[in-house]
Amino acid sequence: MAELIIDKETCTGCEACVPSCPFGALRMEDGLAVVDEKCTFCGACVDVCPVASITLTKDEKAAPTPEAGEYKDVWVFIEHEEGRVSTVSFELLGEGAILARDLGCRLCGMLFCDPKAVEAHAAEAVAHGAEIVYVMESPLLGPYRTDPYARAAVDLIRKYKPEIVLFGATTQGRDFAGTVATTLEAGLTADCTGLAIDPETKFLKQTRPAFGGNIMATILDYPGYRPQMSTVRPKVFAMPARDAGRKGRVVREPLAMTEDEVRTKVLEFVKGEETVNLADAEIIVSGGRAMGCAENFKVLQELADTLKAALGASRAAVDAGWIPYHHQVGQTGRTVRPKIYFACGISGSVQHQAGMKTSDIIVAINKDPDAPIFQIATYGIVGDLFQVVPLLAQEFKKRLGR
Ligand SMILES: Cc1cc2nc3c(=O)[nH]c(=O)nc-3n(C[C@H](O)[C@H](O)[C@H](O)COP(=O)(O)OP(=O)(O)OC[C@H]3O[C@@H](n4cnc5c(N)ncnc54)[C@H](O)[C@@H]3O)c2cc1C
Repeated sequence: MAELIIDKETCTGCEACVPSCPFGALRMEDGLAVVDEKCTFCGACVDVCPVASITLTKDEKAAPTPEAGEYKDVWVFIEHEEGRVSTVSFELLGEGAILARDLGCRLCGMLFCDPKAVEAHAAEAVAHGAEIVYVMESPLLGPYRTDPYARAAVDLIRKYKPEIVLFGATTQGRDFAGTVATTLEAGLTADCTGLAIDPETKFLKQTRPAFGGNIMATILDYPGYRPQMSTVRPKVFAMPARDAGRKGRVVREPLAMTEDEVRTKVLEFVKGEETVNLADAEIIVSGGRAMGCAENFKVLQELADTLKAALGASRAAVDAGWIPYHHQVGQTGRTVRPKIYFACGISGSVQHQAGMKTSDIIVAINKDPDAPIFQIATYGIVGDLFQVVPLLAQEFKKRLGR
């Protein structure tokens, strides 16, 4: 239990606390501050009171601290679409294996699907590292819908009590992980770019950009609430090796839900307009502010066509309106991990690097030999991109016979 106490003896009626409350829980009565039931015990008023008349007490023991060892294992949500497991789930299994090793526990998959698809999807999860795959099966779990997916996750988590649950920060993951977290009254850190186990406390350290990407915040869940849950963007972590010979166990549970309880029906699936798929591209040719105008992107397009690559851009080029946002690479754009990333006329700001620095090979073309991009480049070409890029395209055409 928490309690906010306003000392009537020392309150001077200065009213400083009233506007400080984000929930409008404070008002003045007979010249003194009073608090009502809207108070969330956030403590904002305590800090502003000039005469220290407000005290906040929190009984930490009242929190529903899980029994030691009650919650264990690392779980990864095995997402699938159009009959295939999404690669982000494999990437999370790879990272989950490291967390499970550091916690000395098991790595498990959490799969929801139509009974017909269980075998194939569970086998893929095992081949990528899952020791156990917990499956909720039901025809209701065919095409994705929030209600049955959230119910399936909540029921499985309540029954088997994982310590950590990881979701892809995809349309599905972002959509239902929040519902799961609120139903379970557990924390959820969205869009993580780094995960680690604190060696002393064994809590999950969840790192993500905060304040518009200007700082990286490492977030710990309150110990009284479990599981610890995160969503992670595709391509942040490396794919683990697939081993078809790996053995794993499948635990099947039926979904205790009927169609009447589901608030949505899938009438038709209409695919959105085809946009560039940067996340899955093996080669990306990106242009920055140095491109100068939309027309000049043709220079990069030629190299991209020759290499069957996708076209990327820095935020400077996107903000200038030369190329649409879905081409943007970086902290506020896409995170990519191609085999080859060409950075053409891009300085290499931290925000741009955040989205591409894990590319296997980085080729930087820049007039400025001191541009930060050269610090992470595998190959650096100091020169004018308008001369270098056409020469590269010409040479690749010749060598690839295109
Ligand atoms: C919260 C926040 C989020 C952000 N998110 C992103 C993001 O997601 N992605 C992103 O990219 N940025 C992001 N930014 C912006 C970022 O800080 C930089 O401003 C941006 O990346 C710069 O883009 P640039 O490298 O194209 O331009 P510049 O930094 O201006 O670099 C242009 C480069 O081109 C070189 N050059 C010029 N002419 C030529 C030529 N003819 N040939 C070769 N080289 C040439 C110059 O030497 C220079 O190095 C973010 C910023 C903030 C504050």
